[in-house]
Amino acid sequence: MVQKADVVVIGGGIMGCAIAYGLKKKGVGRVTVVERRGIGEETSSACDGGVNLQTKAPGPALKLAKRSVELYQTLSQELDYDVHFEKYGGMVMVDSPELMGVVEHSVAEQTAAGVDVTILSGDEARRMEPCLSKRITAVTYCPDDGRVSPIHTTIGYAKAAGRAGVEFLLNTAVTGVTVEGGQVTGVETTRGPIRAEVVVNACGVYAPEIGRMVGLDIPILPRKGNIVVTEQVAPCVEHNLICARYIALKHDPDLAKTSSDPSMRLGVNLFLEQTHDGNIIFGSNREWSGYDKSTSYEILCAICSYAASLVPFLSELNIIRTFAGLRPYCEGGPILGPVDGIHGFVMAAGHEGDGIAMAPITGEIMSDYIISQTVTEDIRPFLFSRFSQQKG
Ligand SMILES: Cc1cc2nc3c(=O)[nH]c(=O)nc-3n(C[C@H](O)[C@H](O)[C@H](O)COP(=O)(O)OP(=O)(O)OC[C@H]3O[C@@H](n4cnc5c(N)ncnc54)[C@H](O)[C@@H]3O)c2cc1C
Repeated sequence: MVQKADVVVIGGGIMGCAIAYGLKKKGVGRVTVVERRGIGEETSSACDGGVNLQTKAPGPALKLAKRSVELYQTLSQELDYDVHFEKYGGMVMVDSPELMGVVEHSVAEQTAAGVDVTILSGDEARRMEPCLSKRITAVTYCPDDGRVSPIHTTIGYAKAAGRAGVEFLLNTAVTGVTVEGGQVTGVETTRGPIRAEVVVNACGVYAPEIGRMVGLDIPILPRKGNIVVTEQVAPCVEHNLICARYIALKHDPDLAKTSSDPSMRLGVNLFLEQTHDGNIIFGSNREWSGYDKSTSYEILCAICSYAASLVPFLSELNIIRTFAGLRPYCEGGPILGPVDGIHGFVMAAGHEGDGIAMAPITGEIMSDYIISQTVTEDIRPFLFSRFSQQKG
C-alpha cells in the first residue's frame, strides 16, 4: 500500500529531527522522517557540541545563532529530555603574536554586532581557567558561549517528535523523489513509495545525492575533522577553549597552505570542551577527503601535541576514543528553503561546523516556512537561488 504524508523529511540527523518536531508542534498532520541508518548516526554524532557565538561571522548567521542560543536555554524542558546545554562561556586563546591581529579584528566585528566579547590578558584568563598554558598571551572571552550534547539533542528532538506523532522510518533509504509538472509528489524508498507534496532534504553531506534525484547540483562538500576523547575526569575545564587558529582557518582556509608551521599546514586547530560526563573532547582539523571517515594517525598526533601545548595537563590523560566526522560544507552558509522550479522541494542542509548550534533555530524557521510558504528575511540569505544569481 502506498503511504501518504503531508511532509516527508529525508534525514534523521539533528536538522531533520528538529524540523520534524517543529512541524508537529505547530500542528502539521502527517509528518514522516525517512532515515537510511539510525537517528543521528552520521555527522550529528561525530562532532563537538560547541554552541558558540564568538566563532560566527557577523551577519545573518550570527543573528540566527543568537536566537538559537536562546532556544537552547529552555530546550531540555521543552523536549522533556536533558540535552545537557550549559552556558559556561568560551575563550579563544592567542598563542602567537601574528594571531592577535586576527582576534582583535574579530572582537571589533563581534562587538559591533552586539556580542558580549572582551579581550583578557593571559594571566586574567588563567585566573578563570587555571589549566591554560603560560604560552597563552591573551584570550577573547564570551560569557554567552555554551555547549550541549549533540547526540542527546538529536535523540531529544526525535523522541519529542515521536511522542507528538511523527512517524520515523529507520533503516530506510530514499532512492528517488517524484516530481510531476514541477510539483513534488512524493519519494521512493527501499520500503516503497510515500506520497507527499512537501519533501525536505535534510541529508547533511549526502544532500547532493537527494539533489541529483530532482536534477539539482547542490554544492555541499564533506569536510572532515578528527576528534579525540579522553577518559572521564573530575570537572577541570570550565570554558569552551578554542584556539585563535580555529577562527583564522575557519574564515581564511588558505592560511593553512602558506603557514611555516607543519601542524597549521595540516589544518590542525584546537576546540576543547569537557562533557557533562567528564570526558575531555578535543580536535580538530579541516580536510577534503571525500566521504572517507577514517581517522589519520599523523593528524591525531598533531592534534594531541598542539592541544597539550595549550592545555598541558592533557598529556597526563588516557585517550579512550578517536573518530572523524564529515562537516556539510557549503560556501556562504547552509542552503535553506524552497528551490525555484520544483515546488514542494525544500532544502535544509549545509551547516558545516555550526549545525549543532544552529539546530533549534533551523527547526523553528524551516517549520514556519513549510507551514506559511513565506520566505522570510531569516531564510532569504540562505536560498539555493543565490548560486544561480552568482553565475548570472
Ligand atoms: C569534527 C566536527 C566537529 C563539529 N563541531 C561542531 C560544534 O562544535 N558545534 C556545532 O554547532 N557543529 C559542529 N559540527 C557540525 C555539526 O555536527 C553538523 O553541522 C550537523 O551535525 C549536521 O547535521 P545534519 O542533520 O544536517 O546532518 P547529519 O547528522 O549527517 O544527518 C543527515 C542524515 O541524512 C541521512 N541520509 C542521507 N542520505 C539519505 C537517504 N538517501 N535516505 C534517507 N536518509 C538519508 C543520513 O543517514 C543522516 O543520518 C561539527 C562537525 C564535525 C564533523
